[in-house]
Order: sequence, then structure tokens, then C-alpha cells
Amino acid sequence: MSLADVGSSAFQGVDIPNYDVLMNCMHCGLCLPTCPTYALTGLEKSSPRGRIRLIKAVADGELPITDGFVREMNFCLDCQACETACPAGVKYGSLVEAAREQIARGGFESVTTRFTKKVMMEWTFMRQSRLKVLARFMRLYEITGLKWFLLKTGLLRIFSKKLDAIQPLSPSISRKFSSDELPEVILPVGKPRFRVGFLTGCIMDVAFADVNMDTVKLLLHHGCAVVVPKGQACCGSLQAHNGGLEAAREMAKHNIELFDRDDLDYVVLNSAGCGAFMKEYGHIFSDDPEWGDRARRVSSKTKDITEFLVETGFWPAKPVEEKGVVQTTGSVAKGLRGRRVSYHDACHLVHTQKISVQPRELLKSVPGIEYVELPEASWCCGSAGIYNIVRYDDSMKMLDRKVENIQKIRPDVIVTGNPGCMLQIQHGLREKGMNVELMHTATFLWRACDIS
Ligand code: SF4
Ligand code: SF4
Repeated sequence: MSLADVGSSAFQGVDIPNYDVLMNCMHCGLCLPTCPTYALTGLEKSSPRGRIRLIKAVADGELPITDGFVREMNFCLDCQACETACPAGVKYGSLVEAAREQIARGGFESVTTRFTKKVMMEWTFMRQSRLKVLARFMRLYEITGLKWFLLKTGLLRIFSKKLDAIQPLSPSISRKFSSDELPEVILPVGKPRFRVGFLTGCIMDVAFADVNMDTVKLLLHHGCAVVVPKGQACCGSLQAHNGGLEAAREMAKHNIELFDRDDLDYVVLNSAGCGAFMKEYGHIFSDDPEWGDRARRVSSKTKDITEFLVETGFWPAKPVEEKGVVQTTGSVAKGLRGRRVSYHDACHLVHTQKISVQPRELLKSVPGIEYVELPEASWCCGSAGIYNIVRYDDSMKMLDRKVENIQKIRPDVIVTGNPGCMLQIQHGLREKGMNVELMHTATFLWRACDIS
């Protein structure tokens, strides 16, 4: 079976026009220096240009889907740094996701991979109630000390070396989940300036409930009425990036039902991957007469929290530029004075949503901190959804590069806007014994505002 066997349907539901743009790739190679997998191997086949050639050959029926093809598609992080670099506007991310969809549909992966994806992507993550059951077991596993015991005694290593290696990357589950804690509508003090829908997410809800609560507090502080529709589902990005486009469409429809409401001015998110994918809903359903308009409406209202705050005029304190140096004025929040703060760009914020200026502007406007730029801030940390689980060794090489860059500037705090990056970088810092606090942008900004 090849991409050509299914004709143009190989790219249906992703973005058919992008297929034409693919054919127009100039093979200039400007994307190569930005590609983490090319940097690791130096091999053309592991570069964006090489993968585009492979995808084209398969789509044109010149090459069957081989093990090598599957390997290269899965080696790619889907970080989309190549999209940012490309002068021809090649939408590489859509292409690799379409190729993965074909690989999954044709059953070209190992039985174990197919089984894991089926259980995780097409069952567990399809319903938040199922994910919550799994999360409660994980919390029990942690608080009973079983996790610590298995790690310390090395028993897990005897059972599975891979499980033992990826174990430290698993998130700590929150005591209470944000979707259970938050009421459906929360009003600010005074007349609301905006009415915003808030996606609690899947991992954010069960493992970063505190970040979700901080985001809601920040929105209330900014004068927003926050609407948290009950019965939300995962946005679908995890499925779409791993060849489960049908499952992703199902999740998207569920969220469109919940968020396509006239009373919402915006839909605000705090996870880079979810925001990027919800902005794609319009594209995904572009040919669907039933869902197209509704999907486009939801996408057009979707904003990352930092994008929303800057667009609507939020500042913890006003920044002042003097001789090229940004100074801030105003009160300083407890625990932040004099701290050296830096920012890591999550790929799905900087490359997919093109959001990099807004979080920096917001951070620099916090009084009393010292902002320092992280070298290679937009270089992928190796988390990339489930990449650090399925390609652990490669992922750790990318993490090493990130941690080396952090070591160069020795910050007190690293701020970022995606749960996967938080878990990955935290792991890297812990491994190197570095005393650097990791914070979500929303948490940092809420702390900056909370000067009571
Ligand atoms: S994807 Fe873009 S940058 Fe990369 S080789 Fe093709 S045209 Fe050049
Ligand atoms: S998405 Fe990232 S890893 Fe994949 S080809 Fe582009 S730059 Fe390389």
C-alpha cells in the first residue's frame, strides 16, 4: 500500500492545498540548519528536505511505505522549526502528519506500537473520565511510595529497561482536577470586560491543575468572565500528530459543540499544543458542510493566554525602554524580586502559532526581575508529545542540548507555555542537579500580579 493507492485522500482532512505547496518545495535547504534531527545525524534523509522528497516519492507511487520510511517519519519531532525557516511557505507539519496517518491506516507499525496507540490515543484520551481514572491510579502509585520503591530498588529495570528510563518523565498527578474544581461560569469583580471560554485540557487538567487555576485567576484579574464548559475532551492534537486523524476529528467535533457559542468573545488556552490544534479546526473541516463554519468560528476565537493578554492590553506593570534596555516600574511581587528569569519557546507556540514576542513582553514587564534570553530558546527540548516515550534516546540528546544552554545563562527561573516542555526540562534539570525553578507563563504572571 502506498500514499498513491489512496490518491489525494492521503491528505484529506489535513490540508489538500498544502500538498501542492509540497510539490513546490525549492529544495533550497534553508530549513536544514533549524532541524534537530538533521543536527543529530547530518543525514539528508533525516532533514525536512529529505523527508519531503520521501513523502513526495510515496505520494507519487514511486516508493512503497518501507520500514525506513516509517522510521524517518517517526524520527521527526513535528516541531515545525522547518516551517518557520521555509521561504516557500511549505506546511511541513501537515505533510508529516498525513504520512503518519497513512502509516497508521496501513498497519505499517509494530504490533506493540499499534496496540499502545490504540489503547492510549483511541481509548484513554478519548474521554476525560477515562483519563481521570488512569490519573487516580498513577497518583496512588506515587503517594503509596510504590513508584519510589520500584525506582530505588531497580525492580522496574528488571521488568523493563525502557519503562525504568521513562518513569521519571511521568507527571505528578494533581490532588484535585481543575475540571472538577472550577464552576461552569466564574465572574470577575465588577463588570466583565470579556467573556472567555477556557479549555481545561487533558494533561493540564489532571497533572497541572494548579496552572489551570492560576490561568483562571489571571483571567479574572484581567476582568474576564470565565466560562468552563462541562464535559470537555482532549483537543485531539495528540491523536492527529500520531496518525490518528479520525480520532482527532471526533475530539474536535466534541469541543466545537461546547465552544461554538455566541456569548464567548474568545476561547483561551494555556497549552501550546492544544492552542495550535484548535486553531487548525477550521482547516480540518474546511470541506465539511456541516462542521466547516462552526469549526472556523471556534478557531478564529482561539487564543493562547499570552496572545490574549497582550492583545487585550494586560500588563503586570508598564515596561519602559531606556537606551535599548527594558526597565519596569511598579510593585514587585513576593518571591520574584531580583530573580533571573528566562523563557523557553514551546514549538507549537513559536513555530505553529508564531507566538514568541508576547510572552517575552509580558515577562519583561514584571517589575523587579532580570530577564535574560536563553540561547537557542526555540530549539526543541525533545518532548514533542509522546516522542520522549517512543524515542527516548534521541529525545534525551535534544534535552542535553537544551540543558547545556540553560547552564550557560544560569537563571533562577525558566518559564514556558506547554506541559510537555515543563516535564521534559524539569527532568533534564533534575538529572544535572540544577537548582532552577520551572514555571508556566500563566503561573509566573499570576504570581507577579498577586502582590497582596
Ligand atoms: S521545505 Fe522550504 S526551506 Fe526546506 S528545502 Fe523546501 S523550500 Fe527550502
Ligand atoms: S518538524 Fe522539526 S524535526 Fe521534523 S523535519 Fe521539521 S525541523 Fe526537522
